[in-house]
Amino acid sequence: MGEAGEERQRILTGVRPTGALHLGHYAGALENWLRLQDEYECFFLIADYQVSDHADDIERVREGVIEVATDWLAVGLDPERSHFVIESLVPEHAELTTLLSWFIGLGRLERNPTLKAEMEELEERGMSFEEAERDGKRQVVRERGAVPVAFFTYPIMQVANILMPRAHLVPVGEDQMPHIEMTREVARRFNRRFGYVFPEPDGLVGRVPRLVGIDGNAKMSKSLNNTIDLKDDAETVERKVMRMYTDPTRLRATDPGHVEGNPVFMYHDAFNPDVEEVVDLKDRYRTGRIGDVEVKRKLAAALNTFLDPIRERRAHYESNPAEVRAALARGTEHARTVAQHTMVDVRSALGLNYLDG
Ligand code: ATP
Ligand code: MG
Repeated sequence: MGEAGEERQRILTGVRPTGALHLGHYAGALENWLRLQDEYECFFLIADYQVSDHADDIERVREGVIEVATDWLAVGLDPERSHFVIESLVPEHAELTTLLSWFIGLGRLERNPTLKAEMEELEERGMSFEEAERDGKRQVVRERGAVPVAFFTYPIMQVANILMPRAHLVPVGEDQMPHIEMTREVARRFNRRFGYVFPEPDGLVGRVPRLVGIDGNAKMSKSLNNTIDLKDDAETVERKVMRMYTDPTRLRATDPGHVEGNPVFMYHDAFNPDVEEVVDLKDRYRTGRIGDVEVKRKLAAALNTFLDPIRERRAHYESNPAEVRAALARGTEHARTVAQHTMVDVRSALGLNYLDG
């Protein structure tokens, strides 16, 4: 390992620093990151440029950066093996975004299903969730014209993020796959016209491609307020599980219940390692021999067992924030060196090396 010709392939993936990480992040993405740290050289990016309402709440982003890195350390990502990177401290990301925006048509962006869905959500809900909260949860409806351009172009920046370290693999939740397809197209187009610079990366979706929210919404998401966070304490987890959305057709414990499509059982499948218990719970639920409360109690217990070691490690890093910053500093510095190498090749491929002899 480390010798010429034996270098590991690279992973680039990331998250926006908008708050605490949740079970959806874990099952959709983090779990793969953890597993692949040895096999690949990993770049884990905190995408602060991509918080498109960044300027509205700078303090929240600053806290978010530390929060995400702390969660990463808590789940066991290892900054000795992997690089923790702050996007904006590698400003080459902004440069590459500008250059790659030459290669992506407006129509291509508009057809991007992730962007489309998120844009609709923004328009419905209003730009800033914080703002809605400050207003006592009043629905803030804004027009498309008020959506920052940065929101519209964030997929291009994701393309630049992935291509910067010339990543081969991008482990993400299902919602991010359209961006990877776009990355492949850009890499192909670039290489064909200007010579080989970028590998065409593959996406890799986690064991649970899209974890539902505790409210039964199709996706657990910070902005939907339907998360169980990795840092939630045991009582919070219990409380959230107890009010989880379950089979709405079931009125009493003796009614036969639906297991398929029931979030409580989806979480059992995803996080309860006691397979026999889960099989038994499902069986009794289907035949009306168990109440929702007991199924939920078992789920809360399983989740708390799963989260306990994460909480323990988190406590350590919360009381040692200097270690968190050091991990970020080291990873970011390395990523910057890698980025500078890539940019030399990109600039020369595009003829921007005007002053070279
Ligand atoms: P959120 O989606 O909670 O608002 P975010 O948009 O800031 O958070 P992303 O950067 O979109 O977070 O997510 C980081 C990674 O976690 C991505 O790979 C994403 O696909 C994955 N992910 C997020 N939520 C889920 C989920 N509910 N199920 C599976 N994967 C998820
Ligand atoms: Mg998201």
